Amino acid sequence: MSMIIDVVVFLPIENFLSYRVSEHLQSKVSIGVRVIVPVRNSVEVGIIINVRDISEHGKNDTKELKEAIDIPDNEVVVNEEMIKLCRWISEYYISPLGLAFQIAVPKFLRSSGKPKYTVNTETKTEYLPGSFPQQIIETLKSQPLELKELKKKFKEQEIEKEILALVKEDTLKLIFEPIKLREKIKKELWVRLKKDKIISQEEILVWQKKAPQQVKAYLSLLHKGEEHPLSDLLKKQQITKNTILSLQKKGWIELVEKEVLRTPKLYQYIESQENAKDITLTDEQKNAVKNISDTLCQHQFKTFLLFGITGSGKTEVYLRAIKTAMDNGYQSLFLVPEIALTPQTVSRLYSRFKEQVAVLHSGLSDRERFDEWIKIKEGRVSVVIGVRSAIFAPFQKLGLIVVDEEHEHTYKQEETPRYHARDVAVMRAQINSAVCILGSATPSLESYVHTLESKYQLLKLTQRVASGSLPSIQVVDLKSETDKSSADVILSNMLKEKIQERLERHEQVMLLINRRGFAPVMLCPSCGWIVSCPNCHTSLNYHRNDGTVRCHYCNFKQQRPIQCEECGTIPLILLGVGTQKIEDLLIRYFSEASISRMDTDVTTSKSSGYSILKKFGEQKIDILIGTQMIAKGHDYPNVTLVGVLNADIGLTLPNFRSSEFVFQLLMQVAGRSGRREVPGEVVIQTLMPNHYVIKTVQNHDYQMFVEHELRNRRSVGYPPYNRMIQFGVESEDEKEARDMAYMLVNFARNRLSRNMSECRVLGPAPGVIRRVQGKYRWQFALLGKATKTINRFARDINDHFQTKKTSNKLTLRIDVDPYEIY
Ligand code: ADP
Ligand code: ZN
Ligand code: ZN
Repeated sequence: MSMIIDVVVFLPIENFLSYRVSEHLQSKVSIGVRVIVPVRNSVEVGIIINVRDISEHGKNDTKELKEAIDIPDNEVVVNEEMIKLCRWISEYYISPLGLAFQIAVPKFLRSSGKPKYTVNTETKTEYLPGSFPQQIIETLKSQPLELKELKKKFKEQEIEKEILALVKEDTLKLIFEPIKLREKIKKELWVRLKKDKIISQEEILVWQKKAPQQVKAYLSLLHKGEEHPLSDLLKKQQITKNTILSLQKKGWIELVEKEVLRTPKLYQYIESQENAKDITLTDEQKNAVKNISDTLCQHQFKTFLLFGITGSGKTEVYLRAIKTAMDNGYQSLFLVPEIALTPQTVSRLYSRFKEQVAVLHSGLSDRERFDEWIKIKEGRVSVVIGVRSAIFAPFQKLGLIVVDEEHEHTYKQEETPRYHARDVAVMRAQINSAVCILGSATPSLESYVHTLESKYQLLKLTQRVASGSLPSIQVVDLKSETDKSSADVILSNMLKEKIQERLERHEQVMLLINRRGFAPVMLCPSCGWIVSCPNCHTSLNYHRNDGTVRCHYCNFKQQRPIQCEECGTIPLILLGVGTQKIEDLLIRYFSEASISRMDTDVTTSKSSGYSILKKFGEQKIDILIGTQMIAKGHDYPNVTLVGVLNADIGLTLPNFRSSEFVFQLLMQVAGRSGRREVPGEVVIQTLMPNHYVIKTVQNHDYQMFVEHELRNRRSVGYPPYNRMIQFGVESEDEKEARDMAYMLVNFARNRLSRNMSECRVLGPAPGVIRRVQGKYRWQFALLGKATKTINRFARDINDHFQTKKTSNKLTLRIDVDPYEIY
């Protein structure tokens, strides 16, 4: 029988490639193993995703097919469930198949290794002994070498030419030796007592005289138990290598190789004080746990939305669910937005499940990541906590996926494939018949709407467990604190006084600086009115170069208004205050206090964000200033005041999700205050005290916010009522980018009018950031209800682009379910 395999290589190629398989490799072929194949002029490692009989293939095509080169090991690297998932990612996010698989396979296993030359045993050309070609042949007979190594060995000028000639006549051939999976696992020597060997008292006495060291070592091993790492014995027990070797010679002990998988150190030392035993679940928690556990035991796919206010004990619910999964023999995945910012969650997981836990995050070395990968794949751990990409961990028996803070946009990957880990989680759960829990105090509109449509089951936690009430929220209208032309008051009197109070009472303060975005937006300094798009409910973006304001979705454009349309104030102002300036000012006001800042500038080194939080937890910092980083799920009992310095910056971003982002951020950060006995307070400074986001946050009213926001979205047909796919055309030449954008939009509109499809095209419009890294950006978007239709349509646009593009410098970026401003 002749066999054909379909192979995915880790390159930005749209589809899989097919190869013939020669007789001698056929027995090694199976789905999910690695294979080495020729691709254009090079050699690549790929994954076999399908095996077919040659007769299923058009006869004429098979001749064209190249042959696979080798199958390096028998291990399934990507199992069938994962293959399904990667194919789904590629399809849904319109991204090359190879890039989806890339995330699922550790780096080591993706490299084909360096090409080496070896002697082809089948051809026997004779050369004179001592001649140059014969010298090369002799050298390569003993071991294959890379060209580089050969060049070093033979300093002759002609070496490269000679080798090519030898390859041409089949005397030499190229081989590839990718790293074998087993070889890559680190091994350690262990000393083990020989079980079948019984050594009598007499024997020991005899040897006691001849080799006292050996006997001493043996007895201590006997005393301690069966086996020990050799390095430990050498280091701590001060036994010499010779002693061990002699004992081995006698046959009293043996040396065995063991695979070692190390645990990254970073998070181990955080001890969690709490103890599972002294927590009695609240009724709401009990109800949630019961619903989830029942489904887990039935081994059925289902998605829950755990909607619990900050401090309502969601994490405890996750932990119980994980325990149930474990008791049923299933592995669990716990996704968090960012590991470095959630040390408390990690430590709670560790202290509950100990060495059952593996951690996956971007701070791991390739080595550490590989070790964790193996542990998960071989079922040696049953819980994995990780960030976005951990959704591709190689579980064997996945029963539960938890997505904590499901509304966070760190779950969205901002490079190809532009997947959203929450949505991938739901898909993966479905493929694995697993349970998925999405948890949040401020669920995304998408997830919320899914509960209304009964796609997800809603579970609610409405009460705080540890303290009686939510913090009280005061809104300060910055307009009344400032002269109307500058609007750059940083600290209101109220906030200043309240900070002073906390410092006197030795309580802690968190101050949020909202720094998302930079797009200049115009605002009225007296009434807070923002210049915004009549079609899209988003703010218009000021373009300095031509003095216009534009909508970055639909390209609505007008001259910049001079005067406020609500109250007539002149002039309008542009928003924005630097972070550094804020910190300097605070230090001047509160010179006695210990103040730290936490944002991406400060936390570029992997652990510094973590150590700032640690210090804050130990109450060595009085005031912590920071960007959205400080808003995450921290639980610091001594924080009784949270201040939001500039709530407006985010609200005015030209992104249709900006209200939702700010609402979530403010609710999150407010939730950091007063988590224990002392009631908490929150002060929000804003120029727009009447904005519905500010109003609803003030009342802790998610429901009200959602209703308002959904009404807005519905009125313009934006997500979650329609799917959106955003296209970005980029080129160094602005005209080229713009022309292409117009051409694609025209193409799309023509097709739409013919098909009467339910899709809509928005734009084209210049990117909010017109030029990035020397490339101009133009963009347009599709809106449509049916996922399949809009997806097909986007593919057509992509195909059209590929045939029409005039140069390689022109690129098209496709973002399905976009989050970022482009
Ligand atoms: P959330 O994740 O909803 O913000 P957490 O799970 O972090 O809330 O819970 C906050 C604190 O309350 C934690 O220290 C947790 O151990 C504790 N906790 C959770 N459930 C209970 C309970 N039923 N009784 C007492 N304390 C609890
Ligand atoms: Zn006004
Ligand atoms: Zn618009």
